Amino acid sequence: MRSVIGSAVTVDPAVVESYRRDQSKLTSAGSPLCVVRARSIDDVRATMQWAHARRIPVVTRGAGSGLAGGANAVDGCVILSLAGLDQIIHIDVASKLATVQAGVVNADLARAAAASGLWYPPDPGSRDFSTIGGNVATNAGGSCCVKYGVTADHVARIKAVLPDGRVIHTGSRTRKNVAGLDIGSLLVGSEGTLAVIVEVTVRLRRAPGAMSTVVASFPDCASAIDAVIECAAVADPCVMEVMDRTTIRAVESMTRMGLDVESGALLLIRCDGADFAADAERCAAVCRRTAGEVWSTDDAEEGEAMMAARRMALPALERSGGVLLDDVAVPVPQLPGMMQSIDRIAERYDIRIGTFGHAGDGNLHPTIMFDETDPSQVSRAGQAFEAIVERAVELGGTIAGEHGVGVLKRAHLRLMIGDAELDLQSRIRQAFDPYKILNPGKG
Ligand SMILES: Cc1cc2nc3c(=O)[nH]c(=O)nc-3n(C[C@H](O)[C@H](O)[C@H](O)COP(=O)(O)OP(=O)(O)OC[C@H]3O[C@@H](n4cnc5c(N)ncnc54)[C@H](O)[C@@H]3O)c2cc1C
Repeated sequence: MRSVIGSAVTVDPAVVESYRRDQSKLTSAGSPLCVVRARSIDDVRATMQWAHARRIPVVTRGAGSGLAGGANAVDGCVILSLAGLDQIIHIDVASKLATVQAGVVNADLARAAAASGLWYPPDPGSRDFSTIGGNVATNAGGSCCVKYGVTADHVARIKAVLPDGRVIHTGSRTRKNVAGLDIGSLLVGSEGTLAVIVEVTVRLRRAPGAMSTVVASFPDCASAIDAVIECAAVADPCVMEVMDRTTIRAVESMTRMGLDVESGALLLIRCDGADFAADAERCAAVCRRTAGEVWSTDDAEEGEAMMAARRMALPALERSGGVLLDDVAVPVPQLPGMMQSIDRIAERYDIRIGTFGHAGDGNLHPTIMFDETDPSQVSRAGQAFEAIVERAVELGGTIAGEHGVGVLKRAHLRLMIGDAELDLQSRIRQAFDPYKILNPGKG
């Protein structure tokens, strides 16, 4: 392979080991043959041609921040890292578009857009390190999806390398485009199973103006979610995040920022746009009806501090030891039922679960805390995880809101997809990748 790709290939055991897994827990990972740290599209093409001719599996990788094992190695695979393709190629201010290589980090794109007075809205919690290629391949979400949508809503055009090394361009720089089947939409969320994304043109928006932030402490999750539904009826918030009591206590013990640790749930609401102040006041008024405490601010720094506290949810829960982070979504009106079920599941399996998430999208991250050295707790954590996923589907939701299927949720796909759809999906995969070399066993 070296004769084809040169020094981009490494078999150094320490380097190979560092590329073997993503950030998921309790997922399997195989032993790779080597790692290719691509520096150009030609490196990607050469790797795919080499692997295709030999039927060798290829696992594409961005930053490896995935939480479903999507970038975990399979035995004998080439790990193809796109992190080195990190050029911001063009910001087109007039068309509000940015064209970037797949390895560009989300926050770097956002900063470059901001320097041109524009905004790239998708803001996953991993934005400081996850790549645009990985965001597109997982259709990443974030906290402002409730108003601005997910990654898919911002993808205009994709350049990708097929398993046999051919290059395709899908989509268009124009807002309207109805020329042929929308292959780009298949690539979004395909978790590295159809093609290697090498370049993406994303849609930008005008930079957001001032914002108001409302924080409210509720006696229980049900009243917090009622407030979410009512706020969405009277205003157009761009952020609606929830934390349960376990999460509030963990964040408070880490940050000492004065959160109400006696409350059952905390809502963080932000409003932007021309009516931001009036919208925020309407949301605060809704919250005051049932919340114990309602605090609001127009100050950008104070608002950011509250967002930072919300982003601390996972690290704060992780301080207790091992965590297994779930990612389910249900229709918003089903959220109280989902949160109640999570509490019951925690009791049934005698395990602690802290829940936080994007309430406005019905997307929760129940975080199961357990001692990784205790086999009984590991087993109960796994059972609780299954029960949560099954309950989300029973409530009309999905097994994965934003983290993808990877290896973690492959067995659960059957809960959502019938025989005919599964057959169609496998034939689509076959059309892209007849030898099944791209990320086999995933998604
Ligand atoms: C602290 C933390 C917070 C997070 N917060 C969020 C959040 O708010 N919202 C959210 O959606 N996710 C979140 N995640 C999960 C993760 O960051 C996202 O899934 C992210 O999009 C993965 O990007 P990555 O570059 O790390 O991709 P990787 O983990 O390297 O890969 C993810 C998947 O995409 C495929 N892939 C990667 N690059 C390409 C490419 N160029 N072409 C084809 N396939 C490719 C891989 O094969 C794999 O299946 C979080 C993770 C962490 C650790």
